[in-house]
Amino acid sequence: MIEINKNYLNIKKSYLFAEVNKRSREYLEAHPDEKLLILGVGDITQPLCDSVISALHSAVDDQSKKESFHGYMPECGSDEFRTAVVSYYKKFGVNFEKNEVFVSSGALDELGDILKLFSDNNSALVPEPAYPAYVETNIISGHRVIHLPALPENGFTALPDYGIDADIIYLCSPNNPTGAAYSYDVLSKWVEYAKAKKSIIIFDAAYESFIVDRDIPHSIFELEGSRQCCIEICSLSKTAGFTGMRCGYTVIPNELVFDGISLNALWTQNRTTITNGVSYVLQKAGAAALSEEGQRQTKQAVKIYQKNAEVLTKALDECKITYYGGKNSPYIWMRCPNDMNSWDFFDFLLNKAQIVGTPGAGFGECGNYYFRLSAFGDPEDTVLAGERIKDMFK
Ligand code: PLP
Repeated sequence: MIEINKNYLNIKKSYLFAEVNKRSREYLEAHPDEKLLILGVGDITQPLCDSVISALHSAVDDQSKKESFHGYMPECGSDEFRTAVVSYYKKFGVNFEKNEVFVSSGALDELGDILKLFSDNNSALVPEPAYPAYVETNIISGHRVIHLPALPENGFTALPDYGIDADIIYLCSPNNPTGAAYSYDVLSKWVEYAKAKKSIIIFDAAYESFIVDRDIPHSIFELEGSRQCCIEICSLSKTAGFTGMRCGYTVIPNELVFDGISLNALWTQNRTTITNGVSYVLQKAGAAALSEEGQRQTKQAVKIYQKNAEVLTKALDECKITYYGGKNSPYIWMRCPNDMNSWDFFDFLLNKAQIVGTPGAGFGECGNYYFRLSAFGDPEDTVLAGERIKDMFK
């Protein structure tokens, strides 16, 4: 008889956004004249930049002519896309070979797929609060999950604990949901730890383009020794507004070798066996987003989100509310006022100020008394939300 993967049943049903939507809908049904200010979901609100739109148009035109038509693409990525990623990293002083870059349909897909490199007998260390996919994908794979609270005392950047043995380590910087950005110093401690434990860091750099401080690495590969123990997963979703497009990349260095086996070679085998890659049109658009001109243009959207973050953090400063992030990050992780728990605070903000945020409890137990505000909202709504926060708490 077929044996199914019952690990799926061990995932705590993630009701976070369903519940947020339900409570918002119920509020609007009861108050049909009100407008909600949405600072909850991490989806973007600004359109794609001109370079990307032109690349999309020209790629579609290419597909209409016999001479320029493309069928299946190379599974690991087109030469143009891989070259664009390699050039993009050069500005952080990071050099790759093209074969170390793999195109993907987005970071979330990769977070699930990448676990096929590892056997079921591994453990995964997740500093929390965390993007829920780290825990859920490892539960599905049957891995033991170790939850490591990242505490406010450390500005929510977790430090390694040599008393814990972990095989796969998740680091996300700048972090979703806490907005914490890991310094060189803290990241180098993690690289040392991973090498000592012979484990692998999966570094999620989805929010790298929000970094403004010089002392915050954009890539784990800026750290010495990282090529022997790290994989980087990144996405164009937030860097270039690709949430609805689906294109990202993963970097697996040639030096990443365990038991004499190259993980780069294994991943190449994986991709060429179980995917047919990403479409020509999307890879062309992705390469345009990463080009110098594309970056110049798409930074305008990032600047709008950074301004939103500034509006919200200024309001919290004026109200003397403790928060983390908001700088180097599109997320603000605020302590709920008056020791409210995160769902009570959600209801309070919804009912008193018509603001929808995300309760911290959805990102792990240690988020119970915190609340995430997203800077990806509409700028006018964000200004209004800042005013309403000040009216209530100043
Ligand atoms: N990693 C983190 C930390 C995220 O917050 C998100 C999306 O919000 C993702 C990965 C997924 O990104 P993508 O849209 O590329 O699947």
